[in-house]
Amino acid sequence: MLLTLSTTRHPESGSPATDLGFLLHKHPERVFTFTLPSGQGQVFYPEASEERCTAALLVQLDPVQLSRGRTGQASGAPLEPYVNDRPYAASSFLTGALREAFGTAMSGRSRERQELADAALPFEVHLPALPSRGSPDLAGRLFGPLGYTLDARVLPLDDHFPEWGDSPYLDLKLSGTVQLKALLAHLSILIPVLDDAKHYFVDEGEVERLGRLGEGWLEMHPERELILRRALKHQRDLLRLAAVKFGEPDGSAAAAPSLNAQRLAAVEAELIASGAARVLDLGCGEGHLLRPLLGNPQFREIVGMDVSPRELKRAERFLRLDELPPTVRARLTLMQGSLTYTDARLRGYDAAALVEVIEHLDEGRLWTLARVVFGDARPGTVVVTTPNAEYNARYAFLEEGEARHQDHRFEWDRGAFQGWATRVGDTFGYGVTFRPVGQEDAALGPATQMAVFARKNP
Ligand code: SAH
Repeated sequence: MLLTLSTTRHPESGSPATDLGFLLHKHPERVFTFTLPSGQGQVFYPEASEERCTAALLVQLDPVQLSRGRTGQASGAPLEPYVNDRPYAASSFLTGALREAFGTAMSGRSRERQELADAALPFEVHLPALPSRGSPDLAGRLFGPLGYTLDARVLPLDDHFPEWGDSPYLDLKLSGTVQLKALLAHLSILIPVLDDAKHYFVDEGEVERLGRLGEGWLEMHPERELILRRALKHQRDLLRLAAVKFGEPDGSAAAAPSLNAQRLAAVEAELIASGAARVLDLGCGEGHLLRPLLGNPQFREIVGMDVSPRELKRAERFLRLDELPPTVRARLTLMQGSLTYTDARLRGYDAAALVEVIEHLDEGRLWTLARVVFGDARPGTVVVTTPNAEYNARYAFLEEGEARHQDHRFEWDRGAFQGWATRVGDTFGYGVTFRPVGQEDAALGPATQMAVFARKNP
């Protein structure tokens, strides 16, 4: 089975296409060979010029070796273990090889070219034989929302007998401008999903892997349910676990809204109840709260602020700013700024929300944040949410003491959060009320903790 990955000279920096070698940690002039549990893999470069460079990952599986150790082959033709599509079709064997060959690139690191590893680059991927089970437009539904352009050709079952009809395989070309790390994560998750099979044991670790590789896109993907179902081999208890990881606290994915959705609804309800017309979403990220706020005319002026320009760009896309009616668009301002610096632009608002933001700062800087928000900006109402670390015991996929997100600098139990919030209120003249959000455990408390601060003197 084969996958090729091509790039061209970087349009902005002008770096040569052959820098792909630095990104993949594989030299364009050498062939890299590695062994896999049931075969071997090679990485080589069929073309390597400064204008265009292609890396090929070739995986050769040994069907005899593959069939060894397989038990319980109850059904199927007698030769099926030896004669099948496994050596040719892109499958979880290929994604296993991707991990083996390009592990460093998948982690987003590059020793020599970190700035290119961080950048979105023009990539083309070619998968000459990609199984696609189910509806023929599935590849488009999976890769399209991630920003790729697809050129997919359904392969005939047999070139010589067109009357036999189509095979379940696609010759697929994907192109898009993405970070290499994201591209590899998309391929790793979606190839086995298209195949609807994984040739390795799928357990809780797989949920963790999906969480890691899916970070930043899987949660929001319109086909997320299908992806999870197939990626977890339709195993109900793993699906339940994934539902927790991706936001459904009790796992009844269809019935209960996700924890994210409950959190946003709870924050929006507090902002509505406060009567605010001019609101700040501090650390707005992609704009998940901004969207419902834009939909509610009570909020006449909405500001989304984030420290990360990348998140703000994503918010522009997520909110489809250029498609909004001008009167709605005019109510929103996105701005870059940090909550650790006093910022005059933040003064004079009715309310502010900090949804899942404080845990992204070092604990030592939280008092600075408090001074900036409560001491200087001084909105009438401030709504703060953060995970309740105690509730993590309910999440089977977390090790003891492990945080829900690798970006979290800390996660507080109820005592720590309430202690901090009360000190903030006392110091800066705000009354504070605590409200549970999401599923609540009698002993451990709610999944998310929320504090609503009300300014005492105008
Ligand atoms: N509120 C959003 C995003 C939460 S993730 C949501 O609920 O979906 C945390 C966000 O805080 C990230 O977008 C991160 O870029 C931002 N952030 C982290 N440190 C910050 C700082 N010092 N100032 C402003 N934003 C910050």
